[in-house]
Amino acid sequence: MCGNQSFMNTQMSTIKTEVLNLEAIKGMCFFDPHIHMTSRTTDDYQAMADAGIVAIIEPAFWLGQPRTGLASFRDYYNSLIGWERFRSSQFGIKHYCTIGLNAREANNIDLAEQVMELLPLFIYKEGVVGIGEIGFDDQTPAEEKYYRLQLALAKQAELPVQVHTPHRDKKKGTIRSMEIALEHQLNPTHVIIDHNNEETVEEVLNRGFWAAFTIYPFTKMGNERMVALVKKYGSERIMINSAADWGISDPLAVPKTAALMKAYGIPEKDIELVTYQNAITAFAQSGQLDVTSFLAMKQIDQREKFAGNSILRGGQQPRIDKSSIIIS
Ligand SMILES: [Zn+2]
Repeated sequence: MCGNQSFMNTQMSTIKTEVLNLEAIKGMCFFDPHIHMTSRTTDDYQAMADAGIVAIIEPAFWLGQPRTGLASFRDYYNSLIGWERFRSSQFGIKHYCTIGLNAREANNIDLAEQVMELLPLFIYKEGVVGIGEIGFDDQTPAEEKYYRLQLALAKQAELPVQVHTPHRDKKKGTIRSMEIALEHQLNPTHVIIDHNNEETVEEVLNRGFWAAFTIYPFTKMGNERMVALVKKYGSERIMINSAADWGISDPLAVPKTAALMKAYGIPEKDIELVTYQNAITAFAQSGQLDVTSFLAMKQIDQREKFAGNSILRGGQQPRIDKSSIIIS
């Protein structure tokens, strides 16, 4: 059972429909294995904790505009294993990350070469549960080159791989991503193919890979489609995530989809597999993921500091009474 439900109850009168849905999954724990918290607010962290999210994975990705130098990659990777993990812990959520060179920036070859030199300094750090997110965007030769190099790195480090599949020509890009992973002798059980849809899921499951689905408004998958997919394919090797980032996205996509699955009569054991356990099983192969540590995170003290800084700015008091509407 997950605690921390008092905030949800107090919201009932204002966002009734939403809470009625989330009420159905009260007490369940969730793991969101793909979310870009660097782009999100403290309100998101609080809402996620209140909805039962106990752990997350933040894949390294593109920031919305290209980086111009190696130092910004270094600082970003450092923030994923440092400040962002600390920030998450202040809301009782265990934060893991995957480290990699994203597909889009693989096309800047000068910089990509330098980033490849940097990656081995980060992938062995505590809490890094894989290489990611890597793969294809426009399916260019440069993207393929750095995808292959990073697969080799994952193989050598014995780390799971989190594969971003392209929006355009998705089916072709997804199949190509799996074929290349097999060429590099990766075990499909170590490879999480992300952003699947109805067109790709069968190919991914039939080849023995993990199939991740991103519940993202308007572009990737809606959660009613996801319910239909779980009804059709079951819960084996399937996981869902929010991939919430700086775009119009929803950090509560995992608990909301769990609630919808419950409303549609999907058994709780299957809901638990796709919203919690399967992601744990896949990424625990890194040897860096420990369930007992994230279930032990409930005792939080927002006055704690990371490198001298806390999340409390200029004399703020830690949040104690979550139901208060007073902003002091
Ligand atoms: Zn992403």
